[in-house]
Amino acid sequence: MPSVADSFTARAAKAALDDGFVVVFAAGTGNPFFTTDTAAALRASEMGAEIGRDYQGRPLHLICILKGACIFLSDLLRALDLDVSVDFIAVSSYKKGSNSTGEVQITKDLDQPLEGRDVLIVEDIVDTGLTLNYLFNLLASRGPSSLAIVALLDKPSRRIQPVAVRYIGFEIPNAFVVGYGLDYGERYRHLPDVCVLETPEGVLV
Ligand code: 5GP
Repeated sequence: MPSVADSFTARAAKAALDDGFVVVFAAGTGNPFFTTDTAAALRASEMGAEIGRDYQGRPLHLICILKGACIFLSDLLRALDLDVSVDFIAVSSYKKGSNSTGEVQITKDLDQPLEGRDVLIVEDIVDTGLTLNYLFNLLASRGPSSLAIVALLDKPSRRIQPVAVRYIGFEIPNAFVVGYGLDYGERYRHLPDVCVLETPEGVLV
């Protein structure tokens, strides 16, 4: 009988082929940055335990950057044994080609003030660092008593602007990834694995 992972792989590959892409999964690739459906969730819960120890006894306010970080947030959140509150912010980054320019527009602002709170920004992936650098400075100007960043994925080879990310799930090479909340044109967020998209010309970067 095929495993759940196999049936997800088959479904996703078909959906991707309709779009002219092939989704490349963990199974059999041997590539360290392809996570299995449980690896990202397990890493999120490990990071939750570490964050829980660091903030022990202090209320923690999480800021989730929509939409890509939503699945990571939900796994992280359930691993936090703390007095936790959550808020959401949505941004759109202006891109030149596949690079963001660092110009960021807030499309949904926070509902709650940050003043005097311990705040942790929850991000899906750090690429050039331009978006997070802008957001970090913006949120720092709102007077939190501390401000830090947790990101599931990091592509350090792409960095233009340094960003101090306190907690990193996985470092990955330079490839465009989808799944576990990450999209390509709003699709593929539902894939349980972190995957790369492959065209006939090769892996999308
Ligand atoms: P940065 O400003 O660091 O270049 O861009 C960060 C944002 O770009 C991330 O929050 C994410 O929305 C998007 N991004 C960067 N790399 C990837 C990737 O490999 N896959 C997807 N789906 N989004 C990415």
